[in-house]
Amino acid sequence: MLPLHSPPLWRQIQRKNFTNIEKLLEFLQLPPELSAKVLKKNSFPLNLPLRLAEKIPKGTIDDPIFRQFVPLVEEEMTGSEGFSCDPLLENSFKKTPRLLHKYHGRVLLVTTGSCAMHCRYCFRRHFDYFPEPTFTEEYQLIADDPSVNEVILSGGDPLSLSDKTLRTLLENLSAIPHIKKIRFHTRFPIGIPERIDDEFIALLNSCRLRIWFVIHCNHPNELDEDVSNALERIQKSGIVILNQSVLLKGVNDTPETMAALCQLLVDKGIVPYYIHQLDKVEGAAHFEVPEREGLQLIEKLRRLLPGYAVPRYVREVGGDLHKTPLESS
Ligand code: SF4
Repeated sequence: MLPLHSPPLWRQIQRKNFTNIEKLLEFLQLPPELSAKVLKKNSFPLNLPLRLAEKIPKGTIDDPIFRQFVPLVEEEMTGSEGFSCDPLLENSFKKTPRLLHKYHGRVLLVTTGSCAMHCRYCFRRHFDYFPEPTFTEEYQLIADDPSVNEVILSGGDPLSLSDKTLRTLLENLSAIPHIKKIRFHTRFPIGIPERIDDEFIALLNSCRLRIWFVIHCNHPNELDEDVSNALERIQKSGIVILNQSVLLKGVNDTPETMAALCQLLVDKGIVPYYIHQLDKVEGAAHFEVPEREGLQLIEKLRRLLPGYAVPRYVREVGGDLHKTPLESS
């Protein structure tokens, strides 16, 4: 029997994440010539849930899950043209260290620096996170600006926060009359679907605001039965789920893979919303797919899928007041 105040199951699972590269290499049974391609030390450390590591075939690095989460020596290739530590110029949109106001009508709250996993291409991999999850100043700024009707909970990953912290957050935002919508940007259910437990669902159901979920899934291998069941629990609460993917070399840069992902998403009632061109963050240049190839991929997707299953191909340009659609540029 578990002790009375033991952490929830999802937190216990999270603590079993691989964070030690040597242990992961042993688990993946990589031969020395492939181990040599793995970066052993990095300021953006390894963080990989066991269930994702279990999806990687043994003895290979040629795998979409491996490439997304295991650091390669290519990350040390710095100075690639246009790549920087703050590719979206987020520092210039900070109202506080945790509140970004970039687009009309919505603000983004960087709720935590913690995630279920560390994606090697993350555009916030160099972000200066604030450790303490209290948002007094941010609530006041949001309350003072009636033009804002939506708050995006981002990070890191907002589902890293405890239900207690999230409840306080939702209650405080709900108390602001002009706030109508909350958007969760999360990848947690892909890595630790146990996060979507009874308590979390009850929390969502108790919120007066309209809630949207935007998940982040890049490859069909990420969407297994446990993940689908967790997402279905959210949908059964009347919440719409959108997906955004990042176009990544060696992960999802073929029409067949992307079509399979989009098909799987719509079969589960999830809208394939965006394919993002890679944000040019320092350390991720080896993931870049040229826009020309991305456009060809989208063109092929149009032939393979119904219109509603084809995501919008966009790029985020630092300083622009909306995302840039690439198909019309
Ligand atoms: S889950 Fe999101 S915020 Fe966290 S590392 Fe991945 S892309 Fe970045």
